[in-house]
Amino acid sequence: MFREITEARVNDLHCRYDEESGLQSIIAIHSTRRGPALGGCRIIPYNSSEEAVTDAIRLAKGMSYKAALAGLNLGGGKAVIMEPPQPYDRQRLFSAFGRFVEELNGRYITAMDSGTSVSDMDTINSQTRHVTCTSNSGNPAPHTAEGVFYGIQASLKAHPELADNLKGMRIAVQGLGNVGYALCQRLHQEGAKLFVSDIDDSKVSQCERAFKAVGVDTGDIHKTPCEIFSPCGLGGTLSEQTIGELQCAAVAGSANNQLLTPECGYTLYKKGVLYAPDYLINAGGLIFVAMSHQRRTEQELSRRVEAIHPTLLEIFRREQQSGEPSNIIADHMAEAILFDNSPDQLSA
Ligand code: NAD
Repeated sequence: MFREITEARVNDLHCRYDEESGLQSIIAIHSTRRGPALGGCRIIPYNSSEEAVTDAIRLAKGMSYKAALAGLNLGGGKAVIMEPPQPYDRQRLFSAFGRFVEELNGRYITAMDSGTSVSDMDTINSQTRHVTCTSNSGNPAPHTAEGVFYGIQASLKAHPELADNLKGMRIAVQGLGNVGYALCQRLHQEGAKLFVSDIDDSKVSQCERAFKAVGVDTGDIHKTPCEIFSPCGLGGTLSEQTIGELQCAAVAGSANNQLLTPECGYTLYKKGVLYAPDYLINAGGLIFVAMSHQRRTEQELSRRVEAIHPTLLEIFRREQQSGEPSNIIADHMAEAILFDNSPDQLSA
């Protein structure tokens, strides 16, 4: 465990067992150097506590990197709850979790993640104010979609053979949930030609009707000849095999952990496909959550989401200059912000 903590440079790890509710939870705080650690709480039936610890550490680190590149005055953290066997009292479980968060005195702010809902956040809120995504907050997904939209625009601009304009551009969107659908809406407004896929056929039909999109089988969407492939479903879409089958100029989507392994970044680079690092271009939702929690203005929110565009252009510029793939460059940029002591990095 301490090797994992050291390797990920995690600040601290908190474990809680609450006998009455059956809560078994771990909160990993990666960094609080730039501000309180913000990150979601997921509830999953983990096979072991080791698995839960590893997940919390990995996810907390990801949140730090995401907040740093988004220029937020926040650190990264994540909570995991080992889902007890059914049936269990959900309200009691999340109340106990809320008390756990409260005891950390604002060093960690929790939010929604896999398996948790707005009503769970409301339950947590009955015990602590260090929680976002309650029924009083808005939906982050449209802001995530907006950030991905800027990421797509920047990818078009950076590509030597593409026009800096969405009109007539072919975009293949994989996953038409909260983010994917809002993204399609925005791209359609700008005159893009959409190819769409989802395991839920009704979502495909809806996009066909609303945006004149062309429905594609789920197994084929990544093979669609297009300018941009936009993974907005589950993570891990980009493997050595699927990258070999891509027929796009750039990949820019909202899904977390799109690259099956970091080495896939090199494969994309060698193939000449631009890759917009997922945790940079899907940060719109985090920015929204952070700005709402800190009671900042709409203008500041828009400005920060728009900033995804120049940051991505800078990553592509460094990629071209250094020959290192964009995912690695993004990591280096985040690490410079998180760990360097130079004053200009800290004021980012
Ligand atoms: P969602 O659950 O609303 O939508 C996901 C969609 O993907 C669903 O419609 C689902 O049917 C579809 N899907 C699942 N497997 C698929 C497959 N194999 N092929 C095609 N479609 C498939 O989720 P969301 O909120 O829209 O988020 C989408 C992705 O973006 C997720 O990976 C999420 O982690 C990431 N993300 C979301 C936000 C946000 O603000 N919601 C923020 C950052 C990252």
